[in-house]
Amino acid sequence: MLSEKVLLRLKNAYNVTALTGAGISTDSGVPTFRGKDGLWNNHKVEDIATIDAFEKNKKLFWEFYSWRRKLLSDIKPNLGHYALVDFENYFEDFSLITQNVDNLHTLAGSKNPIELHGNITRNRCTGCDDVTIVDKDETIEEVPKCKKCGAPLKPDVVLFGEQLNQKVLQKAQEVSAICEVFISIGTSSLVEPAASLPYIAKGNGAYLLEINTERTPLSDNCDEVIIAPSTKLLTGLVMILDRLR
Ligand code: ZN
Repeated sequence: MLSEKVLLRLKNAYNVTALTGAGISTDSGVPTFRGKDGLWNNHKVEDIATIDAFEKNKKLFWEFYSWRRKLLSDIKPNLGHYALVDFENYFEDFSLITQNVDNLHTLAGSKNPIELHGNITRNRCTGCDDVTIVDKDETIEEVPKCKKCGAPLKPDVVLFGEQLNQKVLQKAQEVSAICEVFISIGTSSLVEPAASLPYIAKGNGAYLLEINTERTPLSDNCDEVIIAPSTKLLTGLVMILDRLR
């Protein structure tokens, strides 16, 4: 499954950037909110995880988000997340960008993952922008308020209809532009602006590797595509690289 060319590229690489999507968390049991998982109390998730829903009915919005947090609170990182922590130690310069809000990279031990869509374990104040970490056993009051300024809090995630944090996006674009190898892991490569990051890497001469359970719109532009569950593949990759070095 792993060609010699990929292994050599990785073995000799100094600067590597990886982008992860929902696929890396599948083996941890994180719900995808697609298909039958896409409903909450008869509301479509894509109708309620929106900035409009937050503006219109904060109470309902927070009921949904408290439920979602609870769902995630007992979920643990899997071997794929741990393999990416090993990458951090293996490569001289390694950057991790994730589209996931589930906090599993941090729980596994990755330092400073670039969280494009935010992190569900934090709240952000709509008034003063203060960010707080939410204890997983903390009960959320109906609509939580900022302790500093009293304004309503929002989970620190990018909701449908909201812009990404521009500083975070800029950082992701920077580490994509300077890497020698860019690895796209477990992402459908459909959601912008994350979907553009591999093209920034390629435009700057990076080798593009895709690891996913199926082909994506990115596949035809990759130097190598590996169709496999990321957990298994990354664990194997770390073992082989360790032996090569
Ligand atoms: Zn505040």
